[in-house]
Amino acid sequence: MNAVGAPARGRRRARVRVTGTVQGVGFRPYVYRLAGELGLGGYVLNDSHGVLIEIEGSADAVDRFVARLRCEAPPLAVVEQVLAEERVPCGEGSFAIRDSVGGQVPDAPVTPDTATCEDCVRELFDPADRRFRYPFINCTNCGPRFTIVRGVPYDRPLTTMASFAMCAECRAEYDDPADRRFHAQPNACPECGPSLRLLSGRGEPVAGDPLAATAAALRAGAIVSIKGIGGYHLACLAASERTVAGLRARKHREDKPFALMAPSLTVADSLVSLDPVSRGLLTGPPRPIVLAPRRPDAPVADSVAPGAPELGVMLPYSPLHHLLLTDVGETLVMTSANVSDEPIAFVDDDALERLREIADLFLVHDRPIQTRTDDSVVRAHTILRRSRGYVPAALSLPGAGTPRPLLACGAGLKNTFCLARGGRAWVSHHIGDLENYETLRSFTDGISHFGALFAVEPEVVAHDLHPEYLSTKYALELDGIELVGVQHHHAHLAACLAEHGEPGPAIGAIFDGTGYGFDGTVWGGELLYGDVRSFERVGSLMAVALPGAARAIKQPWRMACAWLVASGLEPPAAWRPIGELARSGLASPLTTSMGRLFDAVAALAGIRAEVNYEGQAAIELEAACDPSERGSYPIALTGEPLVIDPRETIRAVAADVRAGRSSGVIARRFHRAIASATVEACVGLADAHATEVVALSGGVFQNRVLLESVSDGLTATGLRVLVPERLPAGDGGISYGQAAVAAATL
Ligand SMILES: [Zn+2]
Ligand SMILES: [Zn+2]
Repeated sequence: MNAVGAPARGRRRARVRVTGTVQGVGFRPYVYRLAGELGLGGYVLNDSHGVLIEIEGSADAVDRFVARLRCEAPPLAVVEQVLAEERVPCGEGSFAIRDSVGGQVPDAPVTPDTATCEDCVRELFDPADRRFRYPFINCTNCGPRFTIVRGVPYDRPLTTMASFAMCAECRAEYDDPADRRFHAQPNACPECGPSLRLLSGRGEPVAGDPLAATAAALRAGAIVSIKGIGGYHLACLAASERTVAGLRARKHREDKPFALMAPSLTVADSLVSLDPVSRGLLTGPPRPIVLAPRRPDAPVADSVAPGAPELGVMLPYSPLHHLLLTDVGETLVMTSANVSDEPIAFVDDDALERLREIADLFLVHDRPIQTRTDDSVVRAHTILRRSRGYVPAALSLPGAGTPRPLLACGAGLKNTFCLARGGRAWVSHHIGDLENYETLRSFTDGISHFGALFAVEPEVVAHDLHPEYLSTKYALELDGIELVGVQHHHAHLAACLAEHGEPGPAIGAIFDGTGYGFDGTVWGGELLYGDVRSFERVGSLMAVALPGAARAIKQPWRMACAWLVASGLEPPAAWRPIGELARSGLASPLTTSMGRLFDAVAALAGIRAEVNYEGQAAIELEAACDPSERGSYPIALTGEPLVIDPRETIRAVAADVRAGRSSGVIARRFHRAIASATVEACVGLADAHATEVVALSGGVFQNRVLLESVSDGLTATGLRVLVPERLPAGDGGISYGQAAVAAATL
């Protein structure tokens, strides 16, 4: 921050420029109040760079104003820079909020959806307040934003609140700079705003108070579909095994854990062990689902998260949740309302149609959701799904940013896209697996929506090299743009470096399930040397057959066959035909996938032969690890480029299985072997390439046991370790990496 001029006596005037997320977050009324408090004249306005202020008064008051500006900013503001310069006083004695200066679109016109603030919660439960128990209470510091925006400027007519005309009282709040609801676009009350309705499973209105009836039904064991901020949830009592098992059966979601919503932090504490970081995440404004170790005596049904050592817990984030959780008084399952792999429902008619076989009741309301936005999922310092509460906050691009506006299309699974202009990148909400018409449509609609919101008309489009990804096909069909193909694992490396503002070059250990390589093989256990511009593949896991290609992903026992054959062992009789297939190479592309090696060991150890969702075998292998086990398995590093050769490891696993050792011991020894090989490989490569930075990314590094041991091992040798923090290590971070690569190569 620049100091304001030299010490001066008497009257002074300063022009103050504030950049960052400072629009639509109550910044102007805050400035208005601060100026009033300090007896300053002048004005404040929004323009295309952020907020512009001129203040005039006593020299001392001007200095205090500038000093307090940053540290007392409203809760949703993210102040990046405050620059002040001296002006000539003109005798302005009063302070005003001036109209915005139009023209260019600001960098942060729309902020993420934010959990109900404490002031609003207090009013919600205050019988004397005019919004007592009103499920849509909000203010400048909280409420829906991204999910209700239809266009820019972010103003009521361009939100899904457009059809609700404010009553006189709401309008007065909205127009009063001293009010907490000044320009709060979703401002509403029971007189003029949205309202709830309860519908039967057949879509017919249910008489009576919707909230009271919903709470009573939930307590009696019903499954209720509830319209939330970014989509519909399915809710039921978390402690009732019969109810949760019923939900699981109706949802056809065999094993995937259900998220929980606890009524309070105290109750959340009884479900999972929370460290201070997780506690902060649970109660912070984005309100994600927080994964944390499950307490052995957690009062939840077994069916909530079968076999999982962690539970996903969140706290109420909308007024409706606060009311419901208070009325029910117990933890609820609160899972995305969808059937199996379909995207979360968010359009009313569609929800009723798709969910009628699942939900007994529908608690709906008449405020439309513009953009489907799933709950975000975090675990301590890492983010697993970045969506509601985080999107559409911008990330920086490294260096000079991108010289031309660009779009990065992301990967195939867990897709996000990313738009970038100048030094900023906007990564989309979680789109999901681009495998069907529904998700493809939310991908294309999302790109148009973001393009309009952030004024990005892409001239350059970055895409994965996989020709079969729908995101790649989308890019290739566009006309009049320049294409940049980005290798999958390079995108992972670049995303990690760019997020940390690290220029590189660095060594990257990029481990995931599947990514398209340069040589027609399926990559996924890659050791790279490079920066955001380019890379070299300096090592990998040994390549083996992927018997039956895509089928091997669903059936880890096929990978067990491939690794047994590669290690000179004979698969058990029942697996022999697939062993033959792997040996023949028919329908068996070669893969260096680390994810598939974890699958193979999970199958060998008897933990899981077939999966019901992506990554399940590896997740259960990690969960099985016996923490008291100190042994490891032999593993070889050979050749140049380096090859991590786990054939001895596989032979040792097989011997332990024959000897009847527990799966916990086998799992732990295997993790230790992979971690030590990874550390040794990275240390050697960092030394050979004279770098001190190692980036760890790819979905396999969502495995905490592996990540911690590799990271600790590398740090102990003096290397600097970077891991993704603001974006997922999995494919949700790919689009940002593609954008960083494209920006650097243009
Ligand atoms: Zn509020
Ligand atoms: Zn009103």
